[in-house]
Amino acid sequence: MKPTEDAMLKMLITAVEHIFSNLENVMNCIIQYEQQKEDEEKRMIRPTVSRVVHYQSYGTPVEEDGKQVYPMACRAAVVTEVVPSNVEERCWVGLAVLNPEGLYFNRNIGYHDPEDGPVGGTWHWPEPAPFMEHKDEGFNPFTDGTVTGNEKPCEPIG
Ligand SMILES: [Zn+2]
Repeated sequence: MKPTEDAMLKMLITAVEHIFSNLENVMNCIIQYEQQKEDEEKRMIRPTVSRVVHYQSYGTPVEEDGKQVYPMACRAAVVTEVVPSNVEERCWVGLAVLNPEGLYFNRNIGYHDPEDGPVGGTWHWPEPAPFMEHKDEGFNPFTDGTVTGNEKPCEPIG
């Protein structure tokens, strides 16, 4: 009877060792996956000449009556040059900023992640566009269009 018990005990030990070995592999995979995810989040698409990005405008100063002619806003901008930099985290670019009422050119504009709060005089990649709700029957984009977000629906001109 004793050899059988020994054999069973050996099998049990082998099984437990096998489980722990697999558990270690699973844990290593999870750690590796988390590290890769972290590295990817840190990595940013490098800007190149001609790409369209957002320029964060400063906005005009607030007047005494509390009005602000131009509040801080994201403006469309075309990359005109990329400044070589040894610091990987910073991508400096030259931009042609397309304001609704005029063009603005500037060089040496630094990147800033808008998720950390907007900073005037910086650039970032355009935020994802909001989805529009749509109705299938008799949908009129001028009168029925509603946007999920803070934007107003498009209105006809004139
Ligand atoms: Zn933006």
